[in-house]
Amino acid sequence: MKVLAVYPGTFDPVTNGHLDIIRRGSRLFDRVLVAILSNPEKKPLFGLRERKRILMMAAAGMPNVTVDSFDGLLVDYARRRGARVIVRGLRALSDFEYEYQMALMNRRLDSEIETVFMMPSEAYSYLSSRLVKEVVRLGGSVAGLVPPEVERRLGLRIGNGARGGRRSHRGAGRGSRG
Ligand code: ADP
Repeated sequence: MKVLAVYPGTFDPVTNGHLDIIRRGSRLFDRVLVAILSNPEKKPLFGLRERKRILMMAAAGMPNVTVDSFDGLLVDYARRRGARVIVRGLRALSDFEYEYQMALMNRRLDSEIETVFMMPSEAYSYLSSRLVKEVVRLGGSVAGLVPPEVERRLGLRIGNGARGGRRSHRGAGRGSRG
C-alpha cells in the first residue's frame, strides 16, 4: 500500500530547514503533500498564493512532492486526502512540548493517522521562518538559509530596499513559532 504523508505548516516563508524535512520525507514516503495552513489570524507576511507558488518552485525537483493548502482540522484534511502520516520537524527540545501535545490531540481525533517526527540537518536546527524575517528586517543576510527566490522576495518586501524603509516589527505574535 502506498503511503501518503502530509507535511503541514505555515511556511511563511519556506526555509531550507523545511526543505530538508520535505526531502527526507520524500525519500521515506511514496508521496509527500506539503499542506500550507491558510490561517489569516497569524497575519502571514506572504499571502497563501504566494507561499504556495514559492513552495512549488522550491520543491520542483522532487517529483513525489505536491503542494496544497488547507484550513480547519488537520486530521480532517489528511483523511480527505487519504494520508495516514503527518510529518513534523523537530529542531530542538523547545519544539517538543508543543509538537507532543499536537500529535496526541491529533491521535485522539483520528487514531488511524500517525505523526512522524523528523530532524533536519543540524545546520538548520536553529532556523525558523520568524528568525529569517527578523534578520532581513534588521539588514542581515539569510543567504544559504532560504531558497534564492525567498531571499529575493524578502529583500523586496521587508529588506533595506523595501519601499518606505524598514518597518518596525514586534515578532510574529504569540503562538507563532514559524
Ligand atoms: P507551524 O506554524 O505549524 O509551526 P512552520 O511553517 O513554522 O509551521 O513549521 C512547519 C513544520 O516544520 C513544523 O513541524 C516545524 O517544527 C518544522 N520546521 C520549521 N522550521 C524547521 C527547521 N529549520 N528544521 C526542521 N523543521 C522545521
